[in-house]
Amino acid sequence: MLIVVSSPSGGGKGTLIRRVRQTVPGLSYSVSWTTRKPRQGEVDGRDYHFVSLAEFERMRDAGGFLEWACVHGNYYGTTWSEVERAQRAGLDVILEIDVQGAANVRRLAADAVTIFIIPPSFETLRERLIRRGSEAPPDLERRLRNARFEVERYREFDYVILNDEVERAAAQLASVIYAERARCPRQEALVRRVLETFPPVEEANAHGGQNGCG
Ligand code: 5GP
Repeated sequence: MLIVVSSPSGGGKGTLIRRVRQTVPGLSYSVSWTTRKPRQGEVDGRDYHFVSLAEFERMRDAGGFLEWACVHGNYYGTTWSEVERAQRAGLDVILEIDVQGAANVRRLAADAVTIFIIPPSFETLRERLIRRGSEAPPDLERRLRNARFEVERYREFDYVILNDEVERAAAQLASVIYAERARCPRQEALVRRVLETFPPVEEANAHGGQNGCG
């Protein structure tokens, strides 16, 4: 299962995803590639793969990206290899990507689960971004300006989760993942495995057919 999580910058999706990865088993996180410079404390290969514009363009032109987008003036992309590795390991993959990326993933994989994390207000978003202190003022302003357009695209998503309180919002995100895993089409392999433990049809019929009436 591909789980797309989007929100405006400062919406708190990173924190929610970290929580959910600690509590929900069977999840993998796709580390994106970006041309953005690392922030203080960010680790190459863990938070992002940090690359030059030339390297990003080379990867893009070679068809390495499942999706990519220009966000707040930098390029970001998800590689096929990252997602395929997780899927081979039987894990559901979380993609923490922007609204453009979410739309591209939806076009590629109609059964991707898309979740939009919304802050309680513009003011909260602004305070979070200022407190984070990771962006210079012009970049911060650009992110806040873009936030409105991102929130306005909420209808494109399957779920909207209000990030008013981290514990509650993380529990809701976990619930969505568990519920999506239980959807009938995703349980076919499991049901087949369970059915294999049942006696064959002839034997079941010998015990009175399907409902015991005939
Ligand atoms: P930041 O610079 O704050 O880490 O990320 C800026 C925005 O880029 C966020 O909305 C984040 O979700 C998005 N982003 C991160 N990785 C990817 C990616 O691989 N693809 C796309 N489309 N967006 C991404």
